[in-house]
Amino acid sequence: MSFYKTNSLKAELNQRGCRLTPQRETILNVFQNLPEGNHLSAEELYNILKDQGETIGLSTVYRTLHLMANIGIFRELELAEGHKHYELNLPQSHHHHHLVCLQCHKTFEFNDESILKIGNKQVEKAGVELLDCQLTVRTVCIEALQEGWPSLLPSNWLCSRHHLEREAELS
Ligand SMILES: [Zn+2]
Ligand SMILES: [Zn+2]
Repeated sequence: MSFYKTNSLKAELNQRGCRLTPQRETILNVFQNLPEGNHLSAEELYNILKDQGETIGLSTVYRTLHLMANIGIFRELELAEGHKHYELNLPQSHHHHHLVCLQCHKTFEFNDESILKIGNKQVEKAGVELLDCQLTVRTVCIEALQEGWPSLLPSNWLCSRHHLEREAELS
């Protein structure tokens, strides 16, 4: 996939009026090296960068993610209010969608072609350009239900440190 190469990402960024600064390149590299199906919040990205010895502040991380999402380089997943996760917005990303637990933000990916078909049809009709097409299904996980969601659970309860589960676990 040519999009994965820094060179073409650089071209892509330039084309969209955005310079590939060393910081942006570092951030892109983190996403390019993520196992497939993983998404990062700004805080998680910040911690990864810190572990790598990078000195990129949290506010720069927020700004960069926001900017790159706005020009369609990143896909922004609104998991819950104030909880955004990001992944690279590749053409093949548009085929996968997300089931999200509103309590712990655990996210499952699933593939469905019909959603993009609907998106494309409307895009064509409106004569606009498609940047992203995603469906977020809001759910509550079994673990949270077993703990007595919603009344018996503190709002910051998390069932696991891992917000991400592979799609395989669904099937
Ligand atoms: Zn995803
Ligand atoms: Zn959950």
